[in-house]
Amino acid sequence: MQTKKVADTLPNSAIVENFDKYLNDNGKRRTPERSMILECALEFRKQFTVEDLIEAMSSKDFFVSQATIYNTVMLLVEAGVLRQFSVDNRSHYERADNVSFIHLKCEHCGKVKLVKDTNFMAYMKARKFPAFTTSYYNFTVYGICNDCARKIKQVKRSSNSKKTKK
Ligand SMILES: [Zn+2]
Repeated sequence: MQTKKVADTLPNSAIVENFDKYLNDNGKRRTPERSMILECALEFRKQFTVEDLIEAMSSKDFFVSQATIYNTVMLLVEAGVLRQFSVDNRSHYERADNVSFIHLKCEHCGKVKLVKDTNFMAYMKARKFPAFTTSYYNFTVYGICNDCARKIKQVKRSSNSKKTKK
């Protein structure tokens, strides 16, 4: 079977071009601040929060007000550069051109891990739903993380040993 190699993401230049077109169409300009924020946001390969972005910006000595960062992130979502989704009622963002990730969520501590599953991607690409074209998926698998599993085991063990002492 032949598998086509799928690039993880679009080249950044293509994204900048699309963003410029969006700004133009909406009578907006790409200010130096917007360019810096876009550059930083595109460096995240996985999900991030606005706080992560603010931290990344200041580590590069890009000093832009938090309000500008928030507004620009909203603009990037509107322009289709970033995709917004909520994890534990907090907004997370990722490149809209990212290949889809599966979110593995621990039901105990709420931690979310992103994993890529190329088999599942290929399946979704091949799967035809009537009158629908899939562009991406945002899907969460619930379970238990190793840290929580270990803690639960320890609690069980200690309560068992207490019982035997009695
Ligand atoms: Zn957990």
